[in-house]
Amino acid sequence: MTQVFNFSAGPAMMPKAVLEQAQQELLNWQDQHTSVMEVSHRGKLFMEMITQAEQDFRQLYAIPDNYKILFLQGGARGQFAAIPMNLLNKKGKALYLNGGHWSATAAKEARLFGDIDEIDILEQDETLQVKALDLRDIATQYDYVHYCPNETISGVEIFDIPDVGDTPLVADMSSNILSREIDINKFGLIYAGAQKNLGPAGITIVIVREDLIGNARPATPSIWNYAVQSKSDSMINTPPTFAWYLCSLVFKHLLALGGVKAVEQRNIAKADLLYQYLDQSGFYRNKVAKANRSLMNVTFTTDNDELNAKFVAEATACGLQALKGHKVLGGMRASIYNAMPIEGVEALIAFMRKFEAENRG
Ligand SMILES: *Cc1c(COP(=O)(O)O)cnc(C)c1O
Repeated sequence: MTQVFNFSAGPAMMPKAVLEQAQQELLNWQDQHTSVMEVSHRGKLFMEMITQAEQDFRQLYAIPDNYKILFLQGGARGQFAAIPMNLLNKKGKALYLNGGHWSATAAKEARLFGDIDEIDILEQDETLQVKALDLRDIATQYDYVHYCPNETISGVEIFDIPDVGDTPLVADMSSNILSREIDINKFGLIYAGAQKNLGPAGITIVIVREDLIGNARPATPSIWNYAVQSKSDSMINTPPTFAWYLCSLVFKHLLALGGVKAVEQRNIAKADLLYQYLDQSGFYRNKVAKANRSLMNVTFTTDNDELNAKFVAEATACGLQALKGHKVLGGMRASIYNAMPIEGVEALIAFMRKFEAENRG
């Protein structure tokens, strides 16, 4: 079988070691002679598994004790609604920083629940970049400020955490959670659908500072109420047990690799290799300013739709899968999340060189 590298933006590739372990344990988990997906979520072994998963995640991301970690359902989109239901209840206003598709979509959903102000934070000249932001003064009038530090579609990443003073900062980290070290103390709430960097689709992680729990509006459904979920170990209803188990294996795997610091170094090495190649090429172009180039989603184009389509078809035939860019942007996108080995990036660059040589006008 030829080696395949999967550059899908999400659901994305899983670490091979994790899939192998899951395969090995599939019919006999913890000597139960049954799989993990067939046991009670309230049983001793499952409870031990999730307790350890939370500890491992807390250790990996250096999450302080005054933050709760919830394992919920409904994806990032579920949180687009849950966040205003839980947090938009004192001043009744929130500020959303618009840096692309996902932050704009989050703002649109939040408008169902209250008064939302939006600031456009991108500027485009030769390249696409994030403006310098001075938010400390205006932030005081809001219950929270929301942003998306990694816009998965455009490949724009914000490395400097916005300074919003004492106002809670809320971040959609669906596509860059655990990709590099961050100071959790700077955030009120961080959330992420699992299917890019944590595990399979179906589970959503919310890291929330304790003082932000307990203010949900009265009509908040129990499954979206952080206080209720926090009191019930994220098990107000049957959780996605198999997805949770796979996340637990990913956490252990990342710890064994040396934790987030080591993973960050690998991610920087992978992204540098690809961007350096793009920058010296006169054939492909990445349109994001250097300071805002995503470590996770690398977008590029030949500026010719026909050539782009040919690129994607030939790359797929060579085992380099899912490189087609998002439909709103066109071009190509290589998603190189934690699970992508450097060999995948090297194989992509080798293919790009060959394609360039064969198709340069
Ligand atoms: C993929 C993605 C989403 C959507 O996640 P769902 O779990 O499908 O709701 C939201 N935000 C970002 C940044 C994403 O990358």
